[in-house]
Amino acid sequence: MPQLQKKLILCSSRYRIRPWKMSVANQLYQLQEVDLKLESVEQALSQIASQLGESQAVVRTQTELRSEHQRLEELRRQQHPAEWEIDDLVNKLAAAEEQLYSGRIKNPKELTSLQHEVEGLKARRNQLEDKALEIMNQVELSEASVAAKSSELKRLETECHRQQQQLSSEMERLKAIVSDLKQKRELLAANIDSGAVEFYGELKKQKGTAVAKVEQGICRGCRISLPTTELQQARGSRLVLCSSCGRILFLP
Ligand SMILES: [Zn+2]
Repeated sequence: MPQLQKKLILCSSRYRIRPWKMSVANQLYQLQEVDLKLESVEQALSQIASQLGESQAVVRTQTELRSEHQRLEELRRQQHPAEWEIDDLVNKLAAAEEQLYSGRIKNPKELTSLQHEVEGLKARRNQLEDKALEIMNQVELSEASVAAKSSELKRLETECHRQQQQLSSEMERLKAIVSDLKQKRELLAANIDSGAVEFYGELKKQKGTAVAKVEQGICRGCRISLPTTELQQARGSRLVLCSSCGRILFLP
């Protein structure tokens, strides 16, 4: 005979001598109601606990903002040398042009070479100006991106703070419910034979629910119609198990 079955017989024989009390099946059903509520509240609590802490969106935006700041600094570092180089070239070009158009150089070979130099300097200046312009554009874009990400981060942090506060107060509310339910469970269990409570606990561990309500002759644990003899037995003070799913039958 299975261990649980033996325990049931032991429990049932004890309850038969106290038929005036609320049926044990009923008591165990009340206990199960509290246990199921406890399970669902504890599940909600652990879900909240996993949501507490830094938000992923905040962390991601902080990282993005940091790297955009670094990019902006790097661009600004490139901006000044480019401008200095242009200034330097502009001075060299002015000097070369001044020499070219001064009329002081008569030698055609020298003049041609100076002309080439001026053209080369102009080309280099244009190149550098394009580069400086490109850097300037990138700096502007990066500044706009930093501003947008900063305000996004601020919005996310405010939102996250509000959510965390809501979660914390919900957590406190649920903790109070858990404490009430545990107290209620203790009181209920204290009035039930410890053997029956133990039997119920083992059955519940196996099946998720240990006590099944019987409604219109149907076991709500497995939704199977119960034989008349089983129903009659379940009306008595003994604990009767559903022949189909093995749960304790409770007739309200
Ligand atoms: Zn059943």
